[in-house]
Amino acid sequence: MQTGKIGVTTENIFPIIKKFLYSEHEIFLRELISNAVDATQKLKTLASVGDYKGEVGDTTIRVKLDKKAGTLTISDSGVGMTADEIDKYINQIAFSGAEEFMEKYKNQANGIIGHFGLGFYSSFMVSDKVEIVTKSWRDDAGAVKWSCDGSPEFAIEEATRSSRGTDVILHISDESKEFLEESRISELLLKYCRFLPIPIAFGTIKEWKDGKEVDTGKEKIINETNPLWVRKPVDLTEEDYMNFYRNLYPTQEDPLFYIHLNVDYPFHLTGILYFPRIKTNFDIQKNRIQLYSNQVYVTDSVEGIVPEFLTLLHGVIDSPDIPLNVSRSYLQSDSNVKKISSHITKKVADRLQEIFKNDREQFEKKWDDLKLFITFGMITDEKFYERAEKFALLKNVDGKYFTLEEYEKLVKDNQTDRNKNVIYLYASDREAQHSYIEEAKNRGYDVLLIDGQLDPHFINTLESKLKDTRFARVDSDVVDKLISKEETREVSLSAEEQDDLRAVFEGALPEGDHYWVSFEELGETANPVIITHSEFMRRMKDMAAMSPTASFYDKMPDSHNLVVNTAHPLVKAIVEAKNKQVGGKLKELNAGIEPLKVSVDELHKAQMEKKEEEIPQAQKEELAEREKQLEELKEERRNLLKNFGREYKLVKELTDLAMLANNMLKGEDLSRFVKRSLELIKTE
Ligand code: ADP
Repeated sequence: MQTGKIGVTTENIFPIIKKFLYSEHEIFLRELISNAVDATQKLKTLASVGDYKGEVGDTTIRVKLDKKAGTLTISDSGVGMTADEIDKYINQIAFSGAEEFMEKYKNQANGIIGHFGLGFYSSFMVSDKVEIVTKSWRDDAGAVKWSCDGSPEFAIEEATRSSRGTDVILHISDESKEFLEESRISELLLKYCRFLPIPIAFGTIKEWKDGKEVDTGKEKIINETNPLWVRKPVDLTEEDYMNFYRNLYPTQEDPLFYIHLNVDYPFHLTGILYFPRIKTNFDIQKNRIQLYSNQVYVTDSVEGIVPEFLTLLHGVIDSPDIPLNVSRSYLQSDSNVKKISSHITKKVADRLQEIFKNDREQFEKKWDDLKLFITFGMITDEKFYERAEKFALLKNVDGKYFTLEEYEKLVKDNQTDRNKNVIYLYASDREAQHSYIEEAKNRGYDVLLIDGQLDPHFINTLESKLKDTRFARVDSDVVDKLISKEETREVSLSAEEQDDLRAVFEGALPEGDHYWVSFEELGETANPVIITHSEFMRRMKDMAAMSPTASFYDKMPDSHNLVVNTAHPLVKAIVEAKNKQVGGKLKELNAGIEPLKVSVDELHKAQMEKKEEEIPQAQKEELAEREKQLEELKEERRNLLKNFGREYKLVKELTDLAMLANNMLKGEDLSRFVKRSLELIKTE
C-alpha cells in the first residue's frame, strides 16, 4: 500500500472547495457522470481506431444508492486508470494560488470546477470519504483502489475488479444525506444528464399492474442518448419537433415555429430554438433556453451568450465552444461567443424571413403572437432590425397587415404634410378612440393599430430609422392638423374675444386635470369642441410608465387640449348668449378697467424714467394701489365669464360631449350629462 499527499500548493484544498462551492453542491453528480461518459467515449475511440482489441460490450453507466452503507456509486466501463494514471490525473492537481483564485471567482463555481480539473474533487463537497476502484483497458494493468477522506492524504492499494472501468464510491457525509434519496438523485439526473450520449441506468422500471405498482426488476435508463438536436433535420418530422418541445416544456402551449441549428465552422453549435407565443409580460418567460456542452447540461440562464431578445426563445443550444469558466461580463467580450450570438441572430431572422416569404398567410396569422419578440429584437439589436425590416408587419385598425415598405407606399401620397413628413396615424385602442379613427378615415387616411406593450419604444425606433416619417395618434390633434397640408384658417374672433371665450369654457371644465383651451376655424360640419392629447407629452408619459425608475413625466398631471371650433354655429350661439346675458355687466366692468389701465400705464412709464431712489414713496404706493384695483376688476370680469360658462347649459354640454367622445366622462359627471341632455331635448 502506498500513501502520499495530494499535490496542491495550498495546504488543503478541500475546505476551500466545501466553503466556496456551497451553493452548487449538487453539480458533483454531473461532474462524476461526465467523467464516466468521457472515459467511455475514449474507450470507444480506442476501439474504433484498433488500439483496443477487446470486446467493448455494454457501456451503460450505472448509478447506485446503498442507503445502509451510506454510499452512492457511479460505475462505468470506460478506459479506467492505471496506478500511474491515478497518480498523474487525480493526485497531482495542477493548481496554483488556489485560495486567491477561489476568492475572485467564488460566484462562478460552476465554471471553475470543469475548467481546473477539479471535477472529480467536487465529490468531496458531499462526501466524508471517496474511493475509486478502477481497472485500465490496457491488458497488463491490474485493478487499483484509491481512497481519501478529505484530508490531503490519500492511499493507493491493489484491488479486485474483474472488468475494465471505474467505480467512484462516495461515502455521503451527514450534512449531505439528501443525496442518498432516490428522488433527489432522479431529479439531478433529469436535470443534468437527460441527454448524455451514453446510457445511464438508475433504479428499476416500475409498472402498473392490476392497480398496483410492481417492480419489473429491469434497470431503467434515465437519458435520451440521441436527442433531437444532434439528429439530422431530414430525418425528423414536424411532430418530432413538437414532441421534443412538449417534453422540455410540459406546461407550455405549442410553439409557433422552430429552427434547427447546425454549425461546424468556425465554431461548433447545434440546437433547436422554438418561438413561443408571447403576448405580454416577457420577463417571466426569459431564460428558457437550455445550454449544453456536448450534451451535458450547463445552465438555463443564457444571458450574455445570446442577445437579450433571444432569451425570449425556448429550446436547446449545445456548443463546446462557449467558455464556461468565465464570468458573464467576460463572456460577452469573448470572440467565439460574439460569433455564436450573431450567428444565432442571423439564423432566427433568416427563418422568419423564409416563413414570411413562403407562407405569408401563416405568418400574418401568427404575427400577433410573434410581434413582441420581433419588436423587442428590432428595438434592441441593430443587426436584427436590418434583417427584420423586410418582414416586420404593421397592422391597421381593419386588421390588414403591411410590411414597412408596403405601408409607406400606401400612405405616402395622401398622408404627407406640408413639411414633407409622412405621417403614420395610429390608434392604441379601437373602441376608446373610435370617433377619432372615423374622422381620420373620412379624410381617406389609414389608421394603424399600435397597442403592444413595447410599442411606445418601437415607434421611437421606427421614427429614427424611417426617413421623414412621424407617428401621430389619431387623438393627438384635430384631424385638420394631424396632417397639416395647408396654412390653417384664421380664427374669426379677436384676441380679446378669444380670451373671454376661453374663460367661459374654463368655467365648464372639471377641476384637477389640466386643459389648454385653444381656438380653430374647423368649419361648420366638424365637431364644435374636440379634446386632443399632445403626442409628445403622452409618449413621454407612456415611456415613463414603462421604465422602472420614477421620472419627471410620471408625476405630471394629465394634460389635455380643448379645441373650440369657432366656425361652428353652436359655438357662435354661445358667443351670442354670452353677449346677451353678461354683455352689459362686462361693459360696465370695461368702463372701470379702461381708465385704470391708462393710468397704470402712465404711472409705470413715468416711474421707469426715474431711478428707484428718486421716486417718491407716495407715487409708488399709488401705482401699487391702482394695479391692485385693476387686478381685482379683471378677476371679477373673469369670474363673471367663468360663472356664465358654468351655468350656461350649452357650454357644459359641448365639453361633456367632447369628453364622451374620448371615453373620459365617468361617474357623477356622466349621470349629470344624461340628465341635462334630456332636459335640453325636452325644451327643444
Ligand atoms: P477533468 O475531467 O476536468 O479532466 P477531473 O478532476 O474530473 O478533471 O478528472 C481528472 C482526470 O482523471 C480526467 O481527466 C481523467 O483522466 C481521469 N478520470 C476521472 N474520472 C475518470 C473515470 N471515471 N474513468 C477514467 N478516468 C477518469
